Amino acid sequence: MAEPRHTVDGPALAPNYAPLPVTVSRAQGVYVWDTDGDAYLDFLAGYSALNFGHLHQALVSAAIGQLKHLTLTSRAVGHELLEPFARRMADVVGPLTSGDRESLVVPMNTGAEAVETAIKAVRKWGYDVKGVPEDQANIVVASGNFHGRTTTLSGLSGNPSARDGFGPFAPGFRTAPFGDAEAVGAAIDEATVAVLMEPVQGEAGVIVPPDDFWPRLRELADENDVVLVADEVQSGLGRTGHILACELWDTKPDLAVLGKALGGGIVPASAVVGRRDVLEVLTPGTHGSTFGGNPLACAIGIAVLDLLEPGQYQARAAQLGEELRDHLRRLTDEGLLTGFRTAGLWAGIDVDPSLVPGRDDPARALAEELLERGVLTQETQGNTIRLSPPLSIARPELDHAIEILELSLRSLRGTTPPAPRQQPAART
Ligand SMILES: *Cc1c(COP(=O)(O)O)cnc(C)c1O
Repeated sequence: MAEPRHTVDGPALAPNYAPLPVTVSRAQGVYVWDTDGDAYLDFLAGYSALNFGHLHQALVSAAIGQLKHLTLTSRAVGHELLEPFARRMADVVGPLTSGDRESLVVPMNTGAEAVETAIKAVRKWGYDVKGVPEDQANIVVASGNFHGRTTTLSGLSGNPSARDGFGPFAPGFRTAPFGDAEAVGAAIDEATVAVLMEPVQGEAGVIVPPDDFWPRLRELADENDVVLVADEVQSGLGRTGHILACELWDTKPDLAVLGKALGGGIVPASAVVGRRDVLEVLTPGTHGSTFGGNPLACAIGIAVLDLLEPGQYQARAAQLGEELRDHLRRLTDEGLLTGFRTAGLWAGIDVDPSLVPGRDDPARALAEELLERGVLTQETQGNTIRLSPPLSIARPELDHAIEILELSLRSLRGTTPPAPRQQPAART
């Protein structure tokens, strides 16, 4: 018998993440449990992919029901949920875009693919409809953006670790400072086909633009015959108290890009929704995806829209979001945070670097401290931690997490001795 080949020491997993020191083995609702059985309140919620919590009964039922019938067909044939999913999306999300109920829907899988889909659609619309000369189209994007990890989208990033070393990048993009409508206007010319931005920048640390920014983008898009694309992959589907964050400013984008929570935390599912005259340029053969619009994802996506349509999750996000904001204001007033921003039940909190002497990553230090005490979060860019619990969180659980946040901040500051880990009283 041949000698077994020696395996090398160390992990086989590529090192493109630096996970927190916890191994999760199961989850329910707003809680996850590690392999030792310790519970954590999940304040990361899969970067908002778990807006409805872990294993939401309606979503799991929809998934299991569909698993027993049909999971994948490819788009070479039709299936019974494809048009119902698109119709539901056009009915629920369409009216929040300028496409209204006439909207078209392109189902994809990941957020990055859906953003790429929007980019392809607006470019082709630019050439076929607007009359931009071949290969001259440009798209205006924002500084500090995060749209995904493909080569084109990495090229748009201003974050050196996301961008450096992955060039050459696709041309055809211009960057304007996020929140500066004047600069966006100045960047637009006859060859501009779209303005593509996140309504609230998630990865950048929940950056909320000035109130007149999105209304002004809408005007600029109309004045210049430019497609306004809102990347709502993280901000959409309830997080900000609305189905689209653009609703915060009564603005209808021409195209909305959805992802993350659309898959219910079960499968990757994304979509572009909006103006028929733009998306109908994607004729047979021009675009596609092996898995996009698969029956399992459609079943879950319909169930997600069913959860959102009555509005309870949005109301809850808005209501608990106010409470979260009040807590964070108090912690900031007490000098425990240097700043914070919220949009619905979504916050970026800024950690004072001097709180954690000897570490150049104070937000990471706080995330580790919170983890020790049973709250799962993750640092994002700069000194910021993003808080995005499932929208199903109960008020006492939110209050409990804030108590732990305060304790953790005081402990980092050295005014409270590190407390032994408190087990949150997990609902099961
Ligand atoms: C997460 C995210 C994406 C990318 O989604 P993936 O599913 O990871 O490809 C795109 N845009 C925004 C705003 C996001 O937050």
